[in-house]
Amino acid sequence: MDRQILVTRSSMPDFEEYCNEIKKLWDSHWLTNMGVEHKELQNELEAYLGCPHVVLYTNGHLALENVISAMRFSRSGEVITTPFTFASTTHAIVRSGLTPVFCDVREDDYTMDADKIEALITEKTVAIVPVHVYGNLCDVERIAAIAARYHLKVIYDAAHAFAVKYKGVSSANFGDASMFSFHATKVFNTIEGGAVCFHDDELVEPLNDMKNFGIRGPERCVYVGGNAKMNEFQAAMGICNLRHLDEEIEKRKKIVERYRAHLENIKGIKLSAVQKDVESNYAYFPVVFDGFPADRNQIFDALASQGIMARKYFYPVTNSFECYAGLPTADPGKTPVAVYMADRVLTLPLYADLSMEDVDKICRIILSHR
Ligand SMILES: *Cc1c(COP(=O)(O)O)cnc(C)c1O
Repeated sequence: MDRQILVTRSSMPDFEEYCNEIKKLWDSHWLTNMGVEHKELQNELEAYLGCPHVVLYTNGHLALENVISAMRFSRSGEVITTPFTFASTTHAIVRSGLTPVFCDVREDDYTMDADKIEALITEKTVAIVPVHVYGNLCDVERIAAIAARYHLKVIYDAAHAFAVKYKGVSSANFGDASMFSFHATKVFNTIEGGAVCFHDDELVEPLNDMKNFGIRGPERCVYVGGNAKMNEFQAAMGICNLRHLDEEIEKRKKIVERYRAHLENIKGIKLSAVQKDVESNYAYFPVVFDGFPADRNQIFDALASQGIMARKYFYPVTNSFECYAGLPTADPGKTPVAVYMADRVLTLPLYADLSMEDVDKICRIILSHR
């Protein structure tokens, strides 16, 4: 088989640009623990996202676990979330000792269905953890109104939504906090990395302490923290990648437009809704096969046989994971839309340097099954 096309390919700066950025680390011998690169990336992200506080982490998952602990929920609390997500979202809730209660998703953009939240609220509910799936934004206004009415915290899993804006405001600014992932496969990467973004000044110290063993100053340890610090090489990669991010998103946009031109208005193929007032980051291109002559698995196999690795993302839903078999709230039967989507969705290859010829080829293979 010749060349493979993978579902994604990490954005990287020129080799020289990165070398130039890390050169100072050879002068200082300061490799981690909030050095100059860390500080610079943090400042640049606060400016880029228009958000007063950004705390950097070694990955998105630990960022989410840390922000959940920083909220200091009672240990038996319930958290309303969705199963149409990456394992990380549900695991972060469960690893924090909280119980995930699964809300179904919307059919048009796969985000939490705000109409179904209130029925799940009990006296044990402490928070809502919705996911901006594929970069589609949740109904942030309705979720804010529900959270205010019931005094719940809202923590967004915004791993897919870096650089997305709603009515001109970046996705970092909704809820009590938002978690971003800067993993190699995301639109913006720091190799591995993540951040928590928020407005509340009171969260700055706990989040900074918790990622460094709970240590505050040389002679005080104030939390039973872990180690989740972003190192200088990660931050340097972020500084370089951020310089080129807008161009990268522009290229992704052209690829998505090409996909849409081929696949829009094809019987049995459903594309994600284009959200009103949302500026997208074109992170993923999900396609739902429903009433198409070939099903999702057949299309996946047909593409794979030609070296094209699409992904069944997200499949399976997290409330059907075997590790949650003993959890009473993990019942996929209660989230039929999420299950329906997970059984039919395929995310097609998408990255800034994907060629238009490859997009055409991928669509040709799909459409040959009509
Ligand atoms: C990538 C991802 C995460 C985890 O981020 P890491 O940086 O890989 O730890 C969490 N949630 C979602 C939805 C993701 O896609």
